[in-house]
Amino acid sequence: MKRIFFISTFILSIVMIVVACKKDKKEDQSSSGQQKKQYNIPAFNGDSAFVFVKKQVDFGPRVPGTEAHKKAQQWFVEKFRSYGAEVEVQKFDANFVLGFSAKSSNIIAKFNPGKSKKILIAAHYDSRKIAEKDPDPNKKNLPIDGADDGASGVGVIFELARILKNNPLDLSIDFVLFDAEDNGNETNDESWCLGSQYWSKNAKSDGYKADFGVLLDLVGAKGAVFTKEYVSKMYAADLQATIWNLAANMGYGDLFADIERGSVNDDHLYVNRDAGIPMVNIINMPDPSGGFGPYHHTHDDNINIIDVNTLRRTGQVVTALMYKYANDDL
Ligand SMILES: [Zn+2]
Repeated sequence: MKRIFFISTFILSIVMIVVACKKDKKEDQSSSGQQKKQYNIPAFNGDSAFVFVKKQVDFGPRVPGTEAHKKAQQWFVEKFRSYGAEVEVQKFDANFVLGFSAKSSNIIAKFNPGKSKKILIAAHYDSRKIAEKDPDPNKKNLPIDGADDGASGVGVIFELARILKNNPLDLSIDFVLFDAEDNGNETNDESWCLGSQYWSKNAKSDGYKADFGVLLDLVGAKGAVFTKEYVSKMYAADLQATIWNLAANMGYGDLFADIERGSVNDDHLYVNRDAGIPMVNIINMPDPSGGFGPYHHTHDDNINIIDVNTLRRTGQVVTALMYKYANDDL
């Protein structure tokens, strides 16, 4: 991804006031002395998530239409099935603004289908065909490894899937690995996120429902800072506040920073807008001017940028969110 939009401080301050009011209300409710169920939140293993990230990078750049992309798809399907998921491969034709077309596929893995509560956790798995921000002009047209931009979110998801296999949960969870996210350009906002656009339109026509969603994008880099992204705030302010408060209570307030930032044109926009499912983007936006890390869309987005501890803390927050939600403890 993706172009970042900027918003006025005025709009932000109104949103912040609304969120503050809602937050107070939630705290009042939770202090009402309700009996809580006993349950455990499993530990999220950052080393295991790292192995899942490296596995993808080792296939080579997962550009749609390439052998590496196909091999990654096959591995995703097999791995999800080995953890007990029902897997669906949702195929579509993607025409990229960068001047190529490819058969593309969203990978949908359903855990515990049929429960009364259901959540959606997503990431994109394709990687970018060019490195337009790379400082070396000879390398700008080469595909990137996409260790953080793509593979990190998927790596966290596979560790969550492994946890689910070993720690049963009374909650339906759909993991969606979106394809064709990262080969757009600045001429057209909707040239990005082709997989989530396709999935979201189908979800709407099929009457697909989930209680809420979380998008994991750029969640593994050293020095990551997940600031509060504005599309998430517009569509899912309560959920965003819940996740960031949860992270702060776990001691991860440095990673999930209580800082407002602009909007990102990412998969969650289409899931929110077209599928009507409130979805929050967890995304590294460390730059005070609202930008991504300096490795973004360069060849520095390789396995060396990935930090086990960033993966672990991100994954632990999402694990806590899942197990707390299943146990009515959010
Ligand atoms: Zn990207």
